[in-house]
Amino acid sequence: MSNLFIELKTPATGPYKQPIGLFINNEFVEGVEKKTFEVINPSTEEVICSVHEATEKDVDVAVAAARKAFEGEWRRVTPQQRSIYLLKLADLVEKNLDLLAAVESLDNGKSITMARGDVGAVVGTIRYYGGWADKIEGKTIDINPDMFHYTRREPIGVCGQIIPWNFPLLMLAWKIAPALATGNTIVLKSAEQTPLSALVFAQFVKEAGFPPGVLNIISGFGRTAGAALSSHMDVDKIAFTGSTVVGRTIMKAAAASNLKKVTLELGGKSPNIVFNDADIEEAISWVNFGIYFNHGQCCCAGSRIYVQEGIYDKFVEAFKQRALQNKVGDPFHPETFQGPQVSQLQYERIMGYIQSGKEQGATVVTGGERHGDKGYFIQPTIFANASQDMKIMQEEIFGPVCAIAKFKTEEDAIRLGNDTAYGLAASVHTKDLNTAIRVSNGLKAGTVWVNCHNMLNHALPFGGYKASGIGRELGELALANYTENKSVAINMAGKMF
Ligand code: ADP
Repeated sequence: MSNLFIELKTPATGPYKQPIGLFINNEFVEGVEKKTFEVINPSTEEVICSVHEATEKDVDVAVAAARKAFEGEWRRVTPQQRSIYLLKLADLVEKNLDLLAAVESLDNGKSITMARGDVGAVVGTIRYYGGWADKIEGKTIDINPDMFHYTRREPIGVCGQIIPWNFPLLMLAWKIAPALATGNTIVLKSAEQTPLSALVFAQFVKEAGFPPGVLNIISGFGRTAGAALSSHMDVDKIAFTGSTVVGRTIMKAAAASNLKKVTLELGGKSPNIVFNDADIEEAISWVNFGIYFNHGQCCCAGSRIYVQEGIYDKFVEAFKQRALQNKVGDPFHPETFQGPQVSQLQYERIMGYIQSGKEQGATVVTGGERHGDKGYFIQPTIFANASQDMKIMQEEIFGPVCAIAKFKTEEDAIRLGNDTAYGLAASVHTKDLNTAIRVSNGLKAGTVWVNCHNMLNHALPFGGYKASGIGRELGELALANYTENKSVAINMAGKMF
């Protein structure tokens, strides 16, 4: 056992070997400055271990590795071989699903059941893009009989990818899979709160056969490693998922350095609109899942709930009863639905929003307090009688807290639904197909769910209108984020026109 691996254990799978180095050129290495940082278990507030920290100098090393791979061996790899590597990687993740899910629960605090779902979605995403790798096509374009025009879709080059802590492995998969399918190389920085699962995953990258330098994974902080990546002169593209504030910083850094391409998947304040004619029990189950899934730590969390006046009182009471049934506690307990928030800082931010909701006069229907006395647990919290100007109605809380308000007409619902800086997702609950379609069309959101919420799939594009981001991930559309178009025009006339 070197200082690049450490013996750890999870309550679900027992002892395992946790890599703790930076994954560069298919090897785990120490950082140039030999710094490390602690990883905290959010359920117990105890230190799990320390991992090596990437600083600016390590970003240089990782980018150089990715550049060398991009200009060298990786260029000669056929699209079909890229597909074979991705499919092998998906198989390895599937084979190691139990371990990856357990490490995710340990580090992030999400329930083991949800973590297993995440890893299943990782397998699906990597397999899906494995399928795309040899189907990237250009066009021939007929313009003039003396000319031959065609387009090629080429990889962009070295991609920097910065991911958050709410779905550490799934966000990694959304980022790396389309980038590798299209022939790019990558330096990915995991979130400082949750570096462990990405490092376990890194081992499978090498085992799947990817050449050294193609996919480098580093642990480190945003202001140092993240900033270095987004302002690096030899990074051709930066993809980011995280807060809107940091998204702006990254876009500025990209603009101020080499104008690298940028895609951003940012915050949300998604409305859940429930009409009088909705199946109320079903709607409540989806609204409950919409806000409390992953402890409210979803960019598309349905945190604003608008209920039509005819069912408002009944809805609020029934939703309270439903939320009280959500089992909060040890992520490794098979029945747990909600674990701890990811960190002390997040816990404090969320409790601050709960306090502001109380001070601004919203009614606490249930929750509003810490759960237990150890770990960053927060009770599922519902505010009713919330008004549009309250902070809990306008700002992203990223926790198990939602605010309910009443609406009268369909026009009101659309107006209120759109009354935010964000536009990531929304949902509509009604039995009337025409209402569903009209409201879906009227909402400025990248995804609209009808009679459901949080139903994502690797084949369906996802991303935001307005301040929720730039570009779409998933589906065929994500391939455009990682390819440059080259138009070739050939003069066949043999003379100047
Ligand atoms: P949160 O506030 O919920 O932690 P962030 O948007 O700050 O969400 O973090 C998401 C990711 O962005 C993390 O990997 C973090 O390290 C990174 N990050 C934070 N600040 C910066 C920055 N200034 N430049 C680049 N990356 C950053």
